[in-house]
Amino acid sequence: MMDSKKKLSIEPVGEQVRGQGGKGGAKIDIDRHYQKILDWFARNNPFAKSELHYKNAYELLVAVILSAQCTDKRVNMVTPALLARFPDSLSMSRSDQEEIYSYIKSISYPNNKAAHLLGMAKMLQSDFGGQVPDTVEDLMRLPGVGRKTANVIASVIFDKPAMAVDTHVFRVSARLGLTHAAKTPLEAEKQLVAHIPETILGKAHHWLILHGRYVCTARKPHCEECGLSEFCPYFQANREGDASLPADAKETASSRPLESLEKKSARMKKPVSRKEPVSLKKSVSLRKLASAKGKSASSKGNSKK
Ligand code: SF4
Repeated sequence: MMDSKKKLSIEPVGEQVRGQGGKGGAKIDIDRHYQKILDWFARNNPFAKSELHYKNAYELLVAVILSAQCTDKRVNMVTPALLARFPDSLSMSRSDQEEIYSYIKSISYPNNKAAHLLGMAKMLQSDFGGQVPDTVEDLMRLPGVGRKTANVIASVIFDKPAMAVDTHVFRVSARLGLTHAAKTPLEAEKQLVAHIPETILGKAHHWLILHGRYVCTARKPHCEECGLSEFCPYFQANREGDASLPADAKETASSRPLESLEKKSARMKKPVSRKEPVSLKKSVSLRKLASAKGKSASSKGNSKK
């Protein structure tokens, strides 16, 4: 793992560890590869943060549970009224699934999510004194909270060194060559955590999500306007038609495993988070996105991050 205290501007020259990119299967220095990409994100999207609206741990927990297989924009449309009626876990725990459903019926899987919210609120009251726990293990005990949601709360609210892997993080990491042959979100998480400094894990999570949502979209990535194309094995492979590049740089291998997991999870009434890609006009660049984020960050003084 890279030294978490090491500044990203320092360029280590380490051992070439595996053939992950470059024409003809040339080896790359994986630490250097990570550093170039993280440096780029740090320069171009320094204010990356969650697009969900929240003011405290409970509100973010509610929002992230609702965001499973739903857009942040849609979640932000229902949470004001929901949280006005249920401003804390006590008020929600005293309600019932039917009433909660009435506030969230416009989002995906409203029945399951109403049950999860009610169960989550009751467990916060019964097991955690009404407070949102600060460990991934305790968070994952809550109904509706899988590893991704737990990592988001641990990272964003409690500044824990956690990497939440959703469909965007999973896909973008594979395309960029940050992960190698990862079959599950947990495998991808372990690889990312092994190479990204702890101090910026949370920020890196948002970088990868936003890049996947607005630039490196699932079906048709906007490579022509992506500032990372020179470091990207997926782009190099598709541009040069280099069949020797690793399979996980390909669209199919990078996206199918997680999508299959998510569909299975939904059937089991245990959804994991998936945010639908939001189309973006071609004229919108990541630099403009970073600028918008900066303005947004300064205008939302109530949010912790
Ligand atoms: S170059 Fe294309 S595939 Fe690579 S990160 Fe950018 S948008 Fe994604």
